[in-house]
Amino acid sequence: MKKEHLFILLFIFFTACVAQTNIVNPKENSITKSVNKKPRLVIGIVIDQMRYDYLTRFYDKYSENGFKRLMNDGFSCENAHFNYIPTYTAVGHASIYTGTTPQHHGIIGNSWYDKFLKKSIYCVDDDNYETVGAKKGGKKSPYRLFSTTITDELYLSQNKKGKVIGVSIKDRSAIFPAGHTANAAYWYQGKDDGKFITSSFYKDTLPDWVVDFNNSGKISGYLNQTWNTLYDINLYTESIEDNNTFEGLFKGKKTPTFPYNLSELKTNNGNFDLLKRVPYGNTIVKDFAETAIIAEQLGQDNFTDFLAISFSSTDYIGHQFGIDSKEIEDTYLRLDKDLASFFNFLDKKVGKGNYTLFLTADHAAVQVPSYLQSLKIPAGYFDEKELKKLVNEVTLNYFKSDSLVENISNFQLFLNKRKIKELHLDTYKVVKTIADEIINFNGVYKVVTAQTLQTTNFTRGVLRLLQNGYNQKLSGDILIVPNPSTIVWKERTGTTHGSGYNYDTHVPLLFYGKGIKKGKSKRYIPIIDIAPTLANLLQISFPNANTGKIIEEVFED
Ligand SMILES: [Zn+2]
Repeated sequence: MKKEHLFILLFIFFTACVAQTNIVNPKENSITKSVNKKPRLVIGIVIDQMRYDYLTRFYDKYSENGFKRLMNDGFSCENAHFNYIPTYTAVGHASIYTGTTPQHHGIIGNSWYDKFLKKSIYCVDDDNYETVGAKKGGKKSPYRLFSTTITDELYLSQNKKGKVIGVSIKDRSAIFPAGHTANAAYWYQGKDDGKFITSSFYKDTLPDWVVDFNNSGKISGYLNQTWNTLYDINLYTESIEDNNTFEGLFKGKKTPTFPYNLSELKTNNGNFDLLKRVPYGNTIVKDFAETAIIAEQLGQDNFTDFLAISFSSTDYIGHQFGIDSKEIEDTYLRLDKDLASFFNFLDKKVGKGNYTLFLTADHAAVQVPSYLQSLKIPAGYFDEKELKKLVNEVTLNYFKSDSLVENISNFQLFLNKRKIKELHLDTYKVVKTIADEIINFNGVYKVVTAQTLQTTNFTRGVLRLLQNGYNQKLSGDILIVPNPSTIVWKERTGTTHGSGYNYDTHVPLLFYGKGIKKGKSKRYIPIIDIAPTLANLLQISFPNANTGKIIEEVFED
């Protein structure tokens, strides 16, 4: 090559470089600038079945760096509620992350009767996919969730950049928060596996770090532990006596009392499934979440990542022992320690000021009804089988058929429309007759027909909650609201949730970290306001069916 030619080439190359620098650099700067205002990592923490008063009841026993750190250095919404019926786990997670209620997002229960398939379905089951990481437990997807989640919107707004990962013991609690576009959702497969798994909806194989975690012996290590109280049990003055008749038993144990030797109990209690029902289930999820942050390098670049964590053991323990038990108190004191260590980890690995976090619950829970009864407070057990008998008697009497209702579940009645047509009956008349009769059934407070919910706009009270939870396409034909503290539960021990009463709807809602100011609010805040608030923090679109509002007061000025 001649010298002149080389000179010309060099000149062209140099000019091109300068031109490119001029074009690219301002763009990069502007991206960096706008991202710097946003957190590098958002962490959603949902605690399954956590009542608001667990924050206050155990406050004096909590460490300074767990719940208290969020309460005192973050923003606490003290009057946050679920604004629909039914308050179940799948519905809660779906509503938090979509910013709307079952009326729009379509998750009307954990399981529900599918009118079209004529069978009960589970919210995340999907036979189109395979289990990844074990033999069973992973044929799941979020396809029944109709609307986008805040995590989907983050993915769309960053043009597919940034990572979203969901983690939980329960499949539904990892899947719905992670949304439709997640990198992955991982959940715990108990029984004889004791592993975190996923679905081929996300990935065809488990990443190495998940395999390593599963093989590390960490999980089986917990199965050899004995669960005893963290502190001297006599200091647990916020709960009722350890031995009482209101608590459920582990198989092979004669009293619901500490200590619980897991290696003795595991054979009769589902082997690795036992870990779901003790506080170590939460610790395992915390360990797994930390491993995910390191291995997936969450919060390390200028695209915002999202880690959705859900702690489920609180729910299993609440169901078995009730909300006033020593077991629940100990579970929350231990969870507080896990949270403190997790927040410390975040400061070190992601950096204070680089992350924003929120903590809430998917629903709360009622006191054990038999315990309330022992204190002369009205409470009870609702017998769906007896109701079914009554309904069949009614329809036989009025319409000469005892098969006009094909399913009763989740306090809803599903009519057999085919049969009604066959018998040339008037659907409206059938519905009205059944509704008029079952209001007299023990434990029923209100009976509402689907037609009423379709033609009336309720603006407040229990009927508003019922309407928010009612999905015209999926829900039943007659809906029942039970009396306060009245539950469908096989046993007289332990408790559950699902209603629109305060004991089920009132939950903690704490924001903390980048962009969040210190403070508290006593204003009523529906839980669907979380997603649009995060959208505003991140300056991205609301989930597509959002009906929530921005919680303005949580933001720094
Ligand atoms: Zn539950």
